[in-house]
Amino acid sequence: MNIHEYQAKQLLKSYGCPVSEGRPVLKADEAKTAASELDGPLWVVKAQIHAGGRGKGKFKEPEAGEKGGVRLAKSVEEAAELAKQMLGRTLVTHQTGPAGKQVNRIYIEDGSDISRELYLALLVDRQTSRVSFVVSTEGGMDIEEVAAHTPEKIMSFSVDPATGLSDFHGRRVAFALGLEGAQVKQCVALVKNLYRAFIEKDMEMLEINPLIVMTDGNLKLLDAKLGFDNNALYRHSDIMALRDETEEDPKELEASKYDLNYIALDGEIGCMVNGAGLAMATMDIIKLYGAEPANFLDVGGGATKEKVTEAFKIITSDPNVKGILVNIFGGIMRCDIIAEGVIAAVKEVGLKVPLVVRLEGTNVELGKEIISKSGLNVIAADNLADGAQKIVKAVKG
Ligand code: GDP
Ligand code: MG
Repeated sequence: MNIHEYQAKQLLKSYGCPVSEGRPVLKADEAKTAASELDGPLWVVKAQIHAGGRGKGKFKEPEAGEKGGVRLAKSVEEAAELAKQMLGRTLVTHQTGPAGKQVNRIYIEDGSDISRELYLALLVDRQTSRVSFVVSTEGGMDIEEVAAHTPEKIMSFSVDPATGLSDFHGRRVAFALGLEGAQVKQCVALVKNLYRAFIEKDMEMLEINPLIVMTDGNLKLLDAKLGFDNNALYRHSDIMALRDETEEDPKELEASKYDLNYIALDGEIGCMVNGAGLAMATMDIIKLYGAEPANFLDVGGGATKEKVTEAFKIITSDPNVKGILVNIFGGIMRCDIIAEGVIAAVKEVGLKVPLVVRLEGTNVELGKEIISKSGLNVIAADNLADGAQKIVKAVKG
């Protein structure tokens, strides 16, 4: 789960990290009061969406102006005006995809005077199975370019979980970032606080870009992006309360209500499968035969008819889906339950695309009988390869 920048900053502030004063704004008529509560003389008006690259982003509507989702203002009035321009508009950045994201919240912040923009991130490194720091002196809006063309300017090192974090790590970050004097001490404290927040809140990712050196020499977090491990959210009700459902894929949100493991993808073949391994194999084989999966979906081992019905409805609600492959290996899951769920869903929402069903395992004969008696236009398949070939052929001709 991700949270907004202003929420991330509030959280990191509670861990002792230096951030600017700021006010979130949800309605245009709150903007002026919010801006007037900050000192100035510089205000930063920032679109809050769960995607990076806002500064270099572009709004779809010309009324929102040409200058992206992070803008500087010289007065309270100007800040309020910018907030009004951006609210409700659609911001497209290199992370949102071409559809962009609607801006429903704005963060107005007290502006900082920047001397240097640095990069500092913490993430769970799968290669070392450790938490790693990633740092660069080249922070700011071009970090992707730095990674692509001058990767030697990005440094990374991990923390041994057996010994944990010590001041030495903070000093290493400080030297890698070219900090000196009192900044080193500030950096050591900052690294400690960030690491503590990361571990205590079960984060997957923490990215500060930019971490700035201000003209007065002090450090500050100017942007913050946090991602949390969904499987640990149950023990962080404070984080769960920050969830913004409008930022999530509506299909994934619906699936989470029914405890379905669903991830939307951008292909054309909807998949309903039981078991994560079989779901992965199904996606692979669809690709092998020349098409792309529209989703990952594992209905789980003990799915009910209702759950299967919901899963099917979610798949068919995706306008990109041009065909559906149901691939079930019934172990704990019974094939007749799947068949009943599919039929119930089709009766409710109709079937406008080809449907291939491959059933195997417990109660397979009964499952096949239920489907053939239903009179639905279902293409039966005998095995995984057969099913994948049939659905790809039905969609691609
Ligand atoms: P992002 O584009 O989504 O990563 O948004 P950021 O919050 O990182 O802001 C983008 C850029 O705006 C930063 O890299 C800064 O150059 C600039 N910026 C943000 N806040 C301030 C500020 O307080 N003062 C100044 N002068 N520039 C800022
Ligand atoms: Mg940034």
